Amino acid sequence: MRPDPRAVREFVAGCLAGIYAPEPDEEIWEWAERVMKIPKTENGEMAGQPWSSYYSPYVRVIIEWVKKPGKSEMWVKKSSQVGITMAALLIICWFIQHRSGAIGYAIDTIEEARRISKVRLQKWLTQNKILEEMGEDEDDLANLTFYLSNITVYMMGAQSGSTFANKSTALFILDELDEHAFIEGQGTTADLARDRCKVPKNSKILGFCTPGASGMITKEHKAGTQEEIVFPWPCCGHEQALKWEAFVFSTDEFRDLADELDLEKVLHGAFFRCECCGGKLLDHQKLDAMKECREVVTNPKAPPGIRSLHIWEAYSAFVTFGELAVEWIKAQGDKTKIERFVRGRKAEHYEETGGVVTTSELLELRGAYRRGECPPNVTPALYVMAVDIQDGFLLKATKSVFDSAGDLYVIDWGEFVSLAELEAFADIPLLTPAGEMVVQCGLLDEGNDKEEVWRYCLETRPRFFPVKGRGGRQVTNLVATSSGWLDGQQVISYHVDDYRFKWSLLNSLRRKHYSEKRQETIKRVILPANSNEDEIFLSELTNEIPVKTKNKFNFDFWDWKKRGPNDFWDTLKYTLAIRVIMAPRLGMEEVTDPGEHEPEAA
Ligand SMILES: [Zn+2]
Repeated sequence: MRPDPRAVREFVAGCLAGIYAPEPDEEIWEWAERVMKIPKTENGEMAGQPWSSYYSPYVRVIIEWVKKPGKSEMWVKKSSQVGITMAALLIICWFIQHRSGAIGYAIDTIEEARRISKVRLQKWLTQNKILEEMGEDEDDLANLTFYLSNITVYMMGAQSGSTFANKSTALFILDELDEHAFIEGQGTTADLARDRCKVPKNSKILGFCTPGASGMITKEHKAGTQEEIVFPWPCCGHEQALKWEAFVFSTDEFRDLADELDLEKVLHGAFFRCECCGGKLLDHQKLDAMKECREVVTNPKAPPGIRSLHIWEAYSAFVTFGELAVEWIKAQGDKTKIERFVRGRKAEHYEETGGVVTTSELLELRGAYRRGECPPNVTPALYVMAVDIQDGFLLKATKSVFDSAGDLYVIDWGEFVSLAELEAFADIPLLTPAGEMVVQCGLLDEGNDKEEVWRYCLETRPRFFPVKGRGGRQVTNLVATSSGWLDGQQVISYHVDDYRFKWSLLNSLRRKHYSEKRQETIKRVILPANSNEDEIFLSELTNEIPVKTKNKFNFDFWDWKKRGPNDFWDTLKYTLAIRVIMAPRLGMEEVTDPGEHEPEAA
């Protein structure tokens, strides 16, 4: 019997369809909106309803990217509740139905991989009958690896490098990237994923995470396009992103008569200020406004194919502007909460060590003058000296001038073995725009040689005074005085708050790390152009480091650790104390509290 040619054609076309069917024109998110219903394990309230990109419209950017031709990477620095993992699962479901090859999904631990597979991915697949419609057997959904006829899905924990070996993948997803262990001899999982994606023509790597201690997502994000999500605001139609700087919740309208923040007002009224018309974007307007969102590249220098995106909690449908603002306000004063907010809500990197000033950063602080000279354009408001005294009566001193704005120019430094040598150093004339000057006043660490220092201060008063650093946070005044008696004469001695002056000095040395607004409150320290010729001086300025640690009640606090000689650091710390003492008398800008360390943007 001759076969019916039409039936044969249909039979052949049917066989080929699964393999060669052109991909539908619709975007993956359109497909998901048409086909996918939300499993109750994903969201109890919305169980059974069709998935919609309305609640997280920015994920369309990622979902559309994954289908585009060509090899490419996408790194998403995200906050905790913005639906990126869900988007990744939808992408996997679409790949299972439309592509062939292999998919890798790596998360920090194998237990977490198992949980995502079982509780999330498998629910999306079975409840939406994805496999059933393809004629696949749902029993093929093993815990971690799905062997389907066209595609294999590997769910894995990122700790074991071996699971990565020899698997060429068309799509590699790296979830919780910053929690992935560095595998000795193999590198980071990002490196491994790149290796696995070398061959397939259109391979994609999607990595995402809330910024963690390892800093990997921050690094990958920085190297990419650094895209932002903009959308037209209802006030004037101007397209803009949600930026922390435009977040308003502490102005007068949120305060009561006693000038205290009214948290109820903040909760219901926090808004974003339009950069174009000054209008408000309120929380209840954001989802509708975001319907027309799109991505904008802010780093045009990114290498081809390397995209990155920042999505923070202001974009989330699961938290309101007011809730975010109140959480931030309540976190103030609590380092752990601030850190959690910066990472989990703002999706920004948090500097855990508090930062160390490096020698190369010190070199950037150099001005256009040489050691021993006054900067040509600076008229000193004050010329001072601060002295640290080491065992064996070794004196280390720095001389500095302050200008009328309170900025500090280091003039010279040296080591001396006697007070006579020290005084000769103080008396070297300095040629300034206002004529010749010598050191006007100074502080000498009374250290272990109190009597000798006191006697010298009495002999030279009112030029030099003894000083002592006081530790601990119980100190309430930046500078306090006490008096004592020696040889029938009264001696005034200064006590300075070590902890806060260390922050003040470190903030000045690391000033460039802060936002422009914050920089306005931080005084400068300027070093001579040729200070690079004295490595010891520079290294002593880098040897005092704030370290985050826990006390026995498990509270976080900052402690200062010395990692080498830091005597010149101490002299500059005392120099800052002189500024606080003298400012009111000099008409110099008054320095109240030098301020503590704050989390900083990457
Ligand atoms: Zn506007």
